[in-house]
Amino acid sequence: PGKVDIPGDGRIDPTRVFLNIPSTDQLRENLLYYSSGAHVAGINSTQAAYTRDYFEQQGIESKIVEYFPWLNYPVDQRVTLFNETTQGIVFEAGLKEDVVPGDPLSEDPNNLPAFHGYSTDGNVTGQLVYANYGRLEDFKALKDAGISVVDKIVLVRYGYIFRGVKVQIAELNGAKGVLIYSDPADDGYSKGKVYPTGPWRPESSIQRGSVMRLQVYPGDPLTPGYAATKDAPRIDPKDAKNLNHIPSLPLSYRDAEPLLCALQGHGRNASEVGSAWIGGLTSKGVEYWTGPSKLRVNLLNKVGYKTRAIQNVIGRIKGSEDSEHTVIVGNHRDAWCAGASDPSSGSAALLELARALGELMKLGWRPRRTIILASWDAEEYGLVGSTEWVEDNIDWVRTNAVAYINVDSAVGGGDFKTEASPAFEQLLYDVTKQVPYPHSNGSVYDAWLQQSLASAELANQAADDYTDMADVADALKSPTPLIRPLGSGSDYTAFMAHAGVSSLSMGFSGRSGAYHSNYDSPKRLTTFIDPDMQLHQAMVRVWGLVAIKLADDPVIRLSPVNYAKTLRRYIRQLEAHVAAQLNNTSSGKQAQNGAVAAASKVHHLRAAQRQLLSSARAIEREKAHLRAVYGEDCQMGSRRRHTSCIKLRSSINDRAFGLERHFTEPEGIPSREWFKHVLVAPGRWEGYGAQVFPALAEAAEDGDWKRFQLYSKRTVETLYEAAWFLREV
Ligand code: GLU
Ligand code: CA
Ligand code: ZN
Ligand code: ZN
Repeated sequence: PGKVDIPGDGRIDPTRVFLNIPSTDQLRENLLYYSSGAHVAGINSTQAAYTRDYFEQQGIESKIVEYFPWLNYPVDQRVTLFNETTQGIVFEAGLKEDVVPGDPLSEDPNNLPAFHGYSTDGNVTGQLVYANYGRLEDFKALKDAGISVVDKIVLVRYGYIFRGVKVQIAELNGAKGVLIYSDPADDGYSKGKVYPTGPWRPESSIQRGSVMRLQVYPGDPLTPGYAATKDAPRIDPKDAKNLNHIPSLPLSYRDAEPLLCALQGHGRNASEVGSAWIGGLTSKGVEYWTGPSKLRVNLLNKVGYKTRAIQNVIGRIKGSEDSEHTVIVGNHRDAWCAGASDPSSGSAALLELARALGELMKLGWRPRRTIILASWDAEEYGLVGSTEWVEDNIDWVRTNAVAYINVDSAVGGGDFKTEASPAFEQLLYDVTKQVPYPHSNGSVYDAWLQQSLASAELANQAADDYTDMADVADALKSPTPLIRPLGSGSDYTAFMAHAGVSSLSMGFSGRSGAYHSNYDSPKRLTTFIDPDMQLHQAMVRVWGLVAIKLADDPVIRLSPVNYAKTLRRYIRQLEAHVAAQLNNTSSGKQAQNGAVAAASKVHHLRAAQRQLLSSARAIEREKAHLRAVYGEDCQMGSRRRHTSCIKLRSSINDRAFGLERHFTEPEGIPSREWFKHVLVAPGRWEGYGAQVFPALAEAAEDGDWKRFQLYSKRTVETLYEAAWFLREV
């Protein structure tokens, strides 16, 4: 390892050399640097400067780019349970995480008190109601059971959907305030030993996090769709559609326990409301009841809002040939506390990637296309740094960005997980086959496939792909690992959903027991998750290989054929979604009309998808021609041939990365126009999870078949235009 292999003609194979560079010692040093203390958005400018200087030392020209979003910090947070008649306090929540002996970061004075980013000020009192995970279906189940949440404080547990959406749904149902706690069934002792004995969440641990309505629009609430530069106009906070209006706070399960106990015997037993409403505190004798409680809860949330400076670090390696076209890699730097896994493992990987690229440049290598390395700020509040940057540079991004490759938490467990534009499929498979998986004889690909097979999702996906059970079985005989569509929750969102840049997000995950808590420390990460830093190293290798190939291969390895094929699955998923909505519709006639309309529209979508696939295949033929006649590098034949080769190749490339842009529409998705991508968006009641064909799926949910027709017509046109674009030479 460490030896550099330079073939005789002096040209180096960058990927072979690259794979030997990432060092576990260097990664450990980087990790310890970033996670040496709290570095919340707006107060981590030292780490921004460090990152810029480090990039510069590797020969990467770098700058800090500031924006000025509106951010809140905690001032006063309280949760009390009291008896209205006697005014006696029954319980006051601690809202504090215990100090863990031997882990200094658990007592860092800079650790932020438990609160919710972008939560609203409030001092509200009401009876308590338990609403499981706070999903749409949970509130519906409560309603069906005759339990109202109007003017109540709602207690929900973390899990499944983005926390900001939980608050939004509670608000829409008339609640006054929301408490979100971490139930031990989801990431605590029901999963395994808790910290400091194991990696899972101990009883005092609290998950902080943003409660923005990130699926309406991410980024600074006061500058929707444009950059929060110093002098930009701001909208009135009252008009910011991505903010909630009722206060919320996070809780540990230690603090949730007395609240659950106050519900006991009131309302309905939760097991009668839904089959999966019972959490893990039953092992401590807690019964789960809906309430409303007899006792009242007071929720006090006082936060200080201010416009503050945040710092993105942008490093740039200029391409040698096709320098306007740019591959962007990014990771956020800000963390709620020490953030060892989230995001410092990723920040450590970004620095090591920068060093490796610097080493390659010392050998005389330059990528064909430009590479940008981005260290984003204020992701935790709502993807603020990346969103403002994309909004600031939207025209440039749409013209020049080839791809965006995100790594948030690089290591939070051993399972390789990825969400991506379908254009990346084959490239990701190829790259992960080249990187060894730690402590095994196989590759990251092999581990990823095994992990995918172990989850039910792969089988579901096969079922989405084929109608015939025999075909499903066949598909599962030669399965490929799971790639999910991109919803939201990290910095790829503005690139993919707003700008239409093919994006990919990945990391090793699986042991989320310290997520957004004081215990996401380097001590925990290097004790229970990645002691020898080999998962970190594998992540740098995968990340770097994807970036180097995209930036350096003569023919860009984004695949329109992969895209068109996966689109067929998306259409089947839409169809299933529509069918489910129709089953739910009570009015017979309306449902019938809907069914007829939907079936005919889905038929048109299929035809458009086939057209797209055939155009994508035509590109493959052009590539084969290019390879056979000129060589991908355009080295074969005379100068005149060379020129026509370059022309053909750049046309193929422009179409390969331009395709994603063609899936965006300027008017966006109804009632959340910031989201321009018509094939995929965060689910409007999910936040993290993706919804395919969002405008159509939502029209079907609303039983608005007119809107369904209108948007299917537009989507079909979009697909034909994209197919046409692929053919244009
Ligand atoms: N990744 C962060 C979270 O899940 C931020 C997401 C957001 O607010 O957009 O809390
Ligand atoms: Ca903005
Ligand atoms: Zn993160
Ligand atoms: Zn986070």
